Amino acid sequence: MANKIATYICTGCGIGEALNTEALTNVAAKEYKLEIVRTHPFLCGAEGVALIKEDIQTAGVDGVVIAGCSPRVNTDVFNFGDEVLVERVNLREQCIWCHPANDEDTQMLAEDQLRMGIVKVKGMSVPTPYQPEEEVSRTVLVVGGGLAGITAALEVAKAGRKAVIVEKNDALGGWVAQLYKQVSVRPPYTELEDPEIRERIKEAEANPNIKVYKGAQIEKISGQPGLFDAYITQKSGGTATERVGAIILATGAVSYDASKLEHLGFGRSANVITTDGLEEMAKRGKIIRPSDGKEVQSAAFVLCAGSRDPEHLPYCSATCCIDSLKQALYIKRQNPNAAVYVFFKDLRAPGFHEYLYQQAQKEGVIFFRSDNTRIEENGKGLVIHAKDVLVNDNIVAEGLDLVVLATGMVPTAALGEMLVAGAEEEEGKKEGEGFFSPKPDIYFESNILNLEYRQGKELPSLKYGFPDSHFICFPYETRRTGIYAAGTVRAPMDIPTTIRDATGAALKAIQCIELTAKGMAVHPRVWDSSYASFRMEQCTQCKRCTVECPFGAINEDEKANPLYNPTRCRRCATCMGACPQRIISFQNYSVVIIGDMVKAIEVPEEDEEKPRIVVIVCENDAYPALDMVGMNRINLSPWIRIIPLRCLGSMNLVWIADALAKGIDGVLLLGCKHGDDYQCHFVKGSELCTYRLSKIKETLDRLALESDRVRIEQVQISDYNLVPEIIKEFAARIEEVGPNPYKGF
Ligand code: SF4
Ligand code: SF4
Repeated sequence: MANKIATYICTGCGIGEALNTEALTNVAAKEYKLEIVRTHPFLCGAEGVALIKEDIQTAGVDGVVIAGCSPRVNTDVFNFGDEVLVERVNLREQCIWCHPANDEDTQMLAEDQLRMGIVKVKGMSVPTPYQPEEEVSRTVLVVGGGLAGITAALEVAKAGRKAVIVEKNDALGGWVAQLYKQVSVRPPYTELEDPEIRERIKEAEANPNIKVYKGAQIEKISGQPGLFDAYITQKSGGTATERVGAIILATGAVSYDASKLEHLGFGRSANVITTDGLEEMAKRGKIIRPSDGKEVQSAAFVLCAGSRDPEHLPYCSATCCIDSLKQALYIKRQNPNAAVYVFFKDLRAPGFHEYLYQQAQKEGVIFFRSDNTRIEENGKGLVIHAKDVLVNDNIVAEGLDLVVLATGMVPTAALGEMLVAGAEEEEGKKEGEGFFSPKPDIYFESNILNLEYRQGKELPSLKYGFPDSHFICFPYETRRTGIYAAGTVRAPMDIPTTIRDATGAALKAIQCIELTAKGMAVHPRVWDSSYASFRMEQCTQCKRCTVECPFGAINEDEKANPLYNPTRCRRCATCMGACPQRIISFQNYSVVIIGDMVKAIEVPEEDEEKPRIVVIVCENDAYPALDMVGMNRINLSPWIRIIPLRCLGSMNLVWIADALAKGIDGVLLLGCKHGDDYQCHFVKGSELCTYRLSKIKETLDRLALESDRVRIEQVQISDYNLVPEIIKEFAARIEEVGPNPYKGF
């Protein structure tokens, strides 16, 4: 807790002209009895910053309230070191830029926001970073020794760290090492080259910073970032344990099972093969008709064989088009007179792959944009029936020696039975009621990582088995802190993209280790050194925190006591919002701190006709959206008082009770979009908050407090222009509902 709090009110950027800063000074000096309360015309300038530093050094100030611009700007300017608490009160973007100047309501808003800032600092303590008793390991474990895994390990080694590769096969290289040729990534992009992975394998095996286990699998991984223990079993019978700081999952993908593509002739004719089959044949030396070994005179490639098909793989597998172009050239270069056709739904050859497409055309490959492809065999060979969608006519290609199906990719993480977890029912509730988590997590029993995590042994997945991550903001981050996915296990991708992906994941793994060693969180709260503490004597073992944590940070013992792993924690505080006992808190963020902020708002008497609405917002999207409202000088309702949260997942229902008990007329929550295309930085926070709110509606009605007084809306930054209307509409509803009957009690 701060020993001495000082308040600094900036009068620049028009604040001094729009607000009565003397009255603001009185709030800090008289209501909160702060000794040091200063105004300055340009607080972010050198002189303003020096003024604050002087007070820190000479007057022992260790809690600083800065009332001025948004906390999203000038963060470096107003950073006074780890020992000084800083709270920013947004008088610019969210006050004078979206409310009229020199107006009674605008002044009341500014004063309430200042009150909330001061009580927040009063409740906060400087976080003490978590330092494990054991030394943090700087080694990165790479599971999978294909292109992604080898590249990640090499990048880790180039950064001066140690990497351990665990590969289940007896040799490194994975799928890429089985290729005959790869597409060139150098101008003119039309050549086919020997797979460069052969060089990478040699480099990795010779690098003293890379230890390789071949013919080996992970039996179990326990621990947390910085302190993971990987138990490795080898086919040879040996076992080993490695202490590692972070993990990269790079186990790649397998080809879709072509036996499910009987309608495309697979299994019915020996001359219908897959991309992998052709690659193998080319590598052996000659492309032949499998049924009789004759040289191929005519061949067809059928693209999207299973991919982009709701009955098989609904997604695009990203590389099959390019692989087929390359293989069409294998046949043309073996026999320039061979007739080679490509039947495609869409030919996806992005970037420099366009040159390969043009090269295939130049060498005589014929393309049909087609659909409804069907394959038969008659006495003269294979026959393809298809609909040419460009000319809207049926086409028939007869007498084909060979048909190659471009089968898609299935991530290895999706192999094994699909499990649904994280939806646990509360005792005594009927089916469908009382689930802790509205949207259960999906896991596959792929037996790759075998994590000792309460929430499941593998990574939470999207429905097709690719690991769940925040696709827009943090694509490498899985929902297990310190475990990064790279390459085709993460998403379908080609060779150059896999190399970039693995490099990114290696850097993320290193970053995670370094942040962990400093006791700081990883994405998205990288600066945060607070972590959760549990007042265990009041824990009822209800399991909500262990189930709802989106990152599997909390295990439990046999008596269902939560066992917190600080370095797995992303500091979202979802557990704090979930805990009915309110026993989880952070040194600078707690149920009490936010509750005190709510209580600091002055609520006018009913006859003053000034309703009050607390707007609880996600600091990642809704808060910047509100800043943008101010930057665009769009007016907002004068009744609102804004409180940012780390994530709406941290929303504890007691704050709503506090607000309504105090006579506040409405509570509006603005959180991120949820559902399949979720935007929530903490995955499930806004969804969990919505779910929790649905549970209190009945209670509110019973207390004669209309449930319409509490509403949640989804807002993303780009929706900033919608926010004023959302607030206006809610305020209109509050006016209709009338004043809170608890006002004045
Ligand atoms: S703060 Fe978030 S990540 Fe950490 S334990 Fe709580 S819910 Fe899990
Ligand atoms: S949510 Fe709270 S009461 Fe329930 S198990 Fe977790 S810490 Fe204990």
